[in-house]
Parts: sequence; structure tokens; C-alpha cells
Amino acid sequence: MDIIPVTDFPDIRVRSMVRSTSGGSLMMIPRENKLVRLYIQLTDGLSTNSRLTRSMVTPMMLIETAKRILSPYTIDFTYIHWWSAYQIGQRSGDHFDKQGRIFLAGDAVHTHSPKAGQGMNVSMQDTYNLGWKIGLACKGLVRPKAIIPTYDMERKLVAKELIAFDRKFSELLSMHSAKDISETSVELKQFFKKAPLFTTGIGVNYASSILTVVDDEAHGLAKYVVPGKRFASCQVTNHSDGRVWELHHRMPSDGRFRIMVFGGNIAHDEQRFAVNALGQWLGKTLIPRYPPINICPIVDRRLQTVRFQSELMTPIIEIFLVHTAPRDQIDILQDVDSTYHPWHPKLGWDYDHIFTTSRVITEDTIQSTQSVYEDYGIDEERGAVVIA
Ligand SMILES: Cc1cc2nc3c(=O)[nH]c(=O)nc-3n(C[C@H](O)[C@H](O)[C@H](O)COP(=O)(O)OP(=O)(O)OC[C@H]3O[C@@H](n4cnc5c(N)ncnc54)[C@H](O)[C@@H]3O)c2cc1C
Repeated sequence: MDIIPVTDFPDIRVRSMVRSTSGGSLMMIPRENKLVRLYIQLTDGLSTNSRLTRSMVTPMMLIETAKRILSPYTIDFTYIHWWSAYQIGQRSGDHFDKQGRIFLAGDAVHTHSPKAGQGMNVSMQDTYNLGWKIGLACKGLVRPKAIIPTYDMERKLVAKELIAFDRKFSELLSMHSAKDISETSVELKQFFKKAPLFTTGIGVNYASSILTVVDDEAHGLAKYVVPGKRFASCQVTNHSDGRVWELHHRMPSDGRFRIMVFGGNIAHDEQRFAVNALGQWLGKTLIPRYPPINICPIVDRRLQTVRFQSELMTPIIEIFLVHTAPRDQIDILQDVDSTYHPWHPKLGWDYDHIFTTSRVITEDTIQSTQSVYEDYGIDEERGAVVIA
């Protein structure tokens, strides 16, 4: 239930969990507008799956249970915004698709307790996983029979892992004896810490498939970028305007692939020649192999049509360069291959794809922070290429 609480419980404005030996468990999540969401475990009267017992639940019953669990602290409310009662069912479907044409996603194919805040997040990740694959298949850029089955393969495993996690989490929350509660408090804390790995998708690790190739030698070049896992974001500085960006903000989810060239210190001639040679190959050989795609549909509400404009066509592969040279030592128009800053007849040179790890503090001081390379486990001298 979402309430405006009146309580002497000191941690009411932080996410907290109370497990009581007599009354079950209570989780509190502070919300906007002074609201707090209470997840109250009801241990009495709901032992059967009957709808009748569920319909017996009232807000007063909920708050009385919360009071029992929280005692000797007190809790009451001035306002109830919303409440509901549900029974936890931990289930997942055997198949997420039927013949590669009908797909199940979200709660329709996996359910679990809402306490870990996973359901919506994992459901959206299901449809994201499916969406880009269907998008590229419809555009004729990938073979549906090769790509579409990876949806079932990848997401079914995530659902199974999530349900295993949730079972254990629910079990820990349902402990009654003082001994069990105290013995499992460290474990419960670890579960709390682990939960965001699911909600953010960072913890998901897709197995080898046509999309994920695990090559130990190549992996060593970027030790902390794990093939099959989400590419984590780091802060980088735009080479041209000095603005600091989260890399993810430059990588919208529009169905394109990204090649991130971590080129090291391109102020050194040898390094710059290597990075430029790679740029030439990417620009002249790799990118032209694939037809460009439309990613910005124009919606005409009057005619109720959606169409793509040909001048908005863009390569399906987007190239980024993240180097470590000080900004003032590199003139990108002179020094860097144009694949990294392509020319557009109407828009001029591109200034949004070259980043540096050195950060401008004032006009005269440049502080070099190699943390991006450290965070990804990339050797600055050797560099690495990451496909995301
Ligand atoms: C109390 C509670 C708290 C939660 N808290 C969190 C949280 O903090 N974080 C989190 O990530 N998740 C949370 N969840 C889980 C989250 O709400 C669900 O996992 C998520 O909504 C699932 O999304 P979905 O699109 O798969 O299904 P739904 O959100 O259920 O959407 C399905 C839609 O389909 C419609 N529909 C059904 N049948 C038909 C039909 N025949 N024709 C047309 N439409 C139909 C339904 O009306 C509904 O709108 C919570 C759940 C509960 C119950």
C-alpha cells in the first residue's frame, strides 16, 4: 500500500526491510510526495489460493499487520493513495515464442514477487531484446531464422535466473525464527545489493550464440567488457566542445550497432597511424557492405502515415573513437580519419563521435583521467575495439 505515514521508525525515508519473529516481513520504499510504499507480508488466512480469502484483505488489516511487524516502533497513516493484495506466483513459460512468429514477453511469460522491483524492468528488457531483432529482420538486414530464435534462448534463461533469485529472496524474507533471521541477515543484504544487477540489465550475461562470440584472446584486450553482457556506460569528454557525456547518452537504442574504437594516445604518431588505418578500413570496406537504415520516421498525423525520409538514412554501424590524447594536441579535421567525423553535404563535419578521456578543467589546465580505460580494462598503449 502507498501511504503518507505517521511513524517514529527512523529509516522511513530509506528503502528498509523489517523481519519480525511474530508478524512476517515488511519492506518500505520511500516515494514521491511524502508517500511510502509498504510491502506487507500477510501470514494469516491466505494459505489457500482461493480468491475469497484474497478479497477479505482490507487496508485496515494491512496497517494492523504493519503495526505488528514494526513494533515497538509505531506506524499509522494520514492518507492512503493506493493499495492492493496479490499472491506471489513464481512461474515461467517453457517457450517465449511460437514458430518465430508469435512472441510472449513480460508478465505473460514470467511472474515473480514484486519485492525486488524486477518485473517491469525485466519485461521491458524482454521487449527491447525482441524489438531490435524484429526491426532488423523486417528491414531485411538480418536472416530472421538465425536471429529471432535468440530471443527465446536469451530471455528464457534470464527469466529462470530471476525466478531462482526471487525464490531465494522470498524465502529469506519469510523467515520467522529469531535464529534464522539473525543468521541470514548478511545474506539478505547481499541479495539487496544483487537485485539492481537484474533491474539495470548489467548482470545479464547472454550465452554464446550467433550474436555473442566469446573469444578469450580478444576479450583480454578489454578485460571488464564481457561479451554477452550490457556495455556499461562511462563518462567521456567530447573532443570538439569539451562537454562531458555519459557514453550511453550518445548511443540511443535505435537498432544500430556501435563500433567503439579505444584508440589510446593518438598524439603519438604510431598510434594515430594505426587508428587512422583502421578508420579507413571501417569507412571504405566495412560500412559500405551494409545498406544504410532509416531510424527517424516522420509521422504525418493528417494522412495517418509513417514514412522514412531518404536523406535521414544512416549507416547501420556507428563508429566512435575514444582516445586519451589531450584535446589541444589533436586537430580532428587534420589528424583523424574522416570515418570518425564523417562529412555530410548539408550538416558539415560531424563533431559528435570523437571523445577523449582528458578533461578540461579550465582553459589552461588539462587533467588526464584514464578512468574509462581502467573501467573497461583496456591497455592505453594497445587500445581495443568494442562492438556494442
Ligand atoms: C504491487 C506491485 C508492485 C510492483 N513494483 C514493481 C517495481 O517496483 N518495479 C518493477 O520493475 N516491477 C514492479 N512490479 C511488476 C510490474 O508491474 C510488472 O512486471 C509489469 O507491469 C509487467 O508488464 P507487462 O507489460 O508484461 O504486463 P502488464 O503491465 O500486466 O500489461 C498487460 C496489459 O495487457 C492488457 N490486457 C490483458 N488482456 C488483454 C486483452 N485480451 N486484450 C487487450 N489488452 C489486454 C492489460 O489490461 C494490461 O494493461 C510490481 C507489481 C506489483 C503487483
